[in-house]
Amino acid sequence: MTGDAAFEIVVRPPADGSTTARLGRLALPHGVVETPQFMPVGTNATVKALHPDDVVATGATIILANTYHLYLRPGHERIERLGGLHRFMGWDGPILTDSGGYQVVSLGDLRVVDEDGVTFRSHLDGSVHRFTPEHAVAVQEALGSDVAVAFDQPVAPSSPREVVADATARTHRWAERSLAAHTRRDQALFGIVQGGIDPELRAASTRAIAALPFDGICLGGLAGDETPEQRDATLEVAVPLLADDPRPRYLMGLGSPADLLEAVHRGVDLFDSVLPARVARNGQFWVPSDSEEGGRLNIRNQRYLDDPEPVQADCPCLACRRFSRAYLAHLFRARELLAYRLATCHNLTFTLDFMARIRTALQAGTFPAALPGLRLRAGRIRGSEAGAKSA
Ligand SMILES: [Zn+2]
Repeated sequence: MTGDAAFEIVVRPPADGSTTARLGRLALPHGVVETPQFMPVGTNATVKALHPDDVVATGATIILANTYHLYLRPGHERIERLGGLHRFMGWDGPILTDSGGYQVVSLGDLRVVDEDGVTFRSHLDGSVHRFTPEHAVAVQEALGSDVAVAFDQPVAPSSPREVVADATARTHRWAERSLAAHTRRDQALFGIVQGGIDPELRAASTRAIAALPFDGICLGGLAGDETPEQRDATLEVAVPLLADDPRPRYLMGLGSPADLLEAVHRGVDLFDSVLPARVARNGQFWVPSDSEEGGRLNIRNQRYLDDPEPVQADCPCLACRRFSRAYLAHLFRARELLAYRLATCHNLTFTLDFMARIRTALQAGTFPAALPGLRLRAGRIRGSEAGAKSA
């Protein structure tokens, strides 16, 4: 790695091939991140409904912020003038910024992709903007994140092969331009593999991106409309090609415990998703799947109105330490703002505790053996079922 970032593999996968999971340590300018790790999403320079101290209390050690959203509002130049993103949002830990590619390409009303970049319309006021690889890097350098990500052209996994091939080839050209534009030594830069779920395209993209001097490898174009089996198969194409690669691997947009576990098993180190927080704000609390509630508790259900128990008895979060299911059920019905804070604290705590359990098993050398128990705890909630992807 260049600059101030370093990734060390602490426990390698066993030689018997029973798992590709590994334990790692990613040192960044604002702190150390133990991997495998999940990054809560702070779309608008805030993890929705939480104070930064709440975010720390959930166990988070790194968060993601969205380049596209901060570029549009309040503006990357303003954040830079105010001392950078860490100071602006009162978060002293590591921050990863995405490239904006996903939002620009998939969320904008108007978007025209050409060889040089993407022209898009703001979702806020309809104004017209343009991102190029160079501009996306400049915006992230102004924000001052610990990790920046190269600008890419993501497409839905189910897109026709020629569409995926075209976007993937362009992503490779943009990767080289992103690298050439990047100047901050105190900021790591990750490249993005595309290639959809086509094994040939995915393998070619993995080789192309891995050949470039990025500090980490993002696996993009997944956590979309593919099936879990297609995602697993795609990881089994990409990760073996990176077997001897010393850099961290980051699967963008994946967030349910069951999905995270299967991707860790196949060799992924880093994740982000709005999923745990988004379903929390809808009143869905994640609990161990082998508990009475069976994986999730919908606090709007009538039967919790008189329930004096906490959501999850052994959970150390802000909600479970102090409040009953009955109180939370009341807060949600009354649409009280505290409901969103407490629910978000719980789901992020559950997710980050789940990752900690995975790391504990990896450290102890019991990971493949621990898989059934971890699968039982994770349940079968998968991203597509819960229905959420990005901001
Ligand atoms: Zn809790």
